[in-house]
Amino acid sequence: MVRTAHCDTVIIGGGVAALWTANVLKSAGQSIVVLTDSPLGAGQTLAAQGVIHGGVKYAVAGKLTDSSETLAGMPGRWLAAMRGEGPVDLREATLLSDHQILWSLPNVVSQVVSFFGSKALRGRSAAIAREDYPAVFDTPDYRGRLFRIDEPVVDPVSVMQELAKSVADVTWQVDWEANAKLLTDEGQISAIEIIQTDGSTCRLEAGNHVLAAGAGNGPFLVQIGIEEPRQQLRPLHQLVIRRKDLPPFYSVCVGNGPKPPIVVTTHHDSAGRTLWYVGGDLAEQSGVDRDESSQIQAGRAFFAKWLPWIDLSGAEWFTCRVDRAEPLTGTGDRPPGAYCRRLGNVIVAWPTKLALAPALAEAVLNETSGYRFGERFTLDLPRPGLAKPPWDLP
Ligand SMILES: Cc1cc2nc3c(=O)[nH]c(=O)nc-3n(C[C@H](O)[C@H](O)[C@H](O)COP(=O)(O)OP(=O)(O)OC[C@H]3O[C@@H](n4cnc5c(N)ncnc54)[C@H](O)[C@@H]3O)c2cc1C
Repeated sequence: MVRTAHCDTVIIGGGVAALWTANVLKSAGQSIVVLTDSPLGAGQTLAAQGVIHGGVKYAVAGKLTDSSETLAGMPGRWLAAMRGEGPVDLREATLLSDHQILWSLPNVVSQVVSFFGSKALRGRSAAIAREDYPAVFDTPDYRGRLFRIDEPVVDPVSVMQELAKSVADVTWQVDWEANAKLLTDEGQISAIEIIQTDGSTCRLEAGNHVLAAGAGNGPFLVQIGIEEPRQQLRPLHQLVIRRKDLPPFYSVCVGNGPKPPIVVTTHHDSAGRTLWYVGGDLAEQSGVDRDESSQIQAGRAFFAKWLPWIDLSGAEWFTCRVDRAEPLTGTGDRPPGAYCRRLGNVIVAWPTKLALAPALAEAVLNETSGYRFGERFTLDLPRPGLAKPPWDLP
């Protein structure tokens, strides 16, 4: 027997984009269904450093860019969610740090450094007095200046846990090879056919289908026959330094190039060990081309050269590779903001940053409000669990 069920919006995906959007649409009164093919957060979200960019990092070349203006409101939006204000309740999520430290390599031109204390960044960055230096820089050997930038760092695992809670009743795990099929018709999704655990079939029809599956969007676009947008993958090769007693280190380094040489955040693994998670330019193109041992060598050399007073003896070093999934820009660069585009009954969504999930969800809400198509119902399918961050993977 085939049962037909209707809902306002089906969201395909299970990362921050899908779940933040699901929370917003559900609290706006839409009937929604979230379908993921993996544990929640697998892919990019649980591999993210958790930095809620406000755009300051993109000003390292010494000027505020489009990206920095788009991002300026994001720290406030996230902190509001962490206070329980608005449609997304992140009160139980962990704020790892309410700010980052901006430090500079000794050869950096002084105009770039003084920019961070300038009027342009007032309210987003401030010089730190010598007596307030954090443990990592509490040494006469560091001769540069330090700035505080008001960009919080969240724990992506706890964020996903909280986002999942309020939409747990409408989130299911599917296997496109075994129990789910996208039915398409001339660039549209006509229905999703689901074989439930009890063997019965449910034909799911929706007013809107949000593709929020990260790197999974690319193959869906091909399957549906959508030629534009296309997807680009930008690989990263992140470095992890793990030792039980590392001090907190949330920082952006300013070098002479347009990208920070390193960005460091501090996390804990499931065994309670501290780890420094290192991204930035080191993890981008040149790092991607290195194998694991050369990437570790490059990381060790960077710390030995620029932060030689930090004792990392006994630390364990390893790396992880993760692709960022985004709309194709044609230049290989990062797109400027969250991407949301409607093509008939399909909405293609990439946040392009964890930080931009609230902006993406708002754009999807604007695209979907006005549809009242569905009803509330349940599916007889497994529920997804939570994925693991890269340092807890076997
Ligand atoms: C190493 C790294 C560090 C980063 N650090 C930061 C940072 O500090 N700050 C920041 O703002 N951004 C950061 N980002 C970017 C950020 O992580 C991503 O922009 C964001 O997590 C993307 O979320 P998403 O939900 O679109 O995709 P993903 O997190 O990749 O989630 C996609 C999900 O969709 C589901 N899925 C996939 N395929 C299918 C399918 N076929 N059917 C159904 N479901 C499917 C899976 O559940 C998967 O988990 C970082 C990215 C990387 C790789």
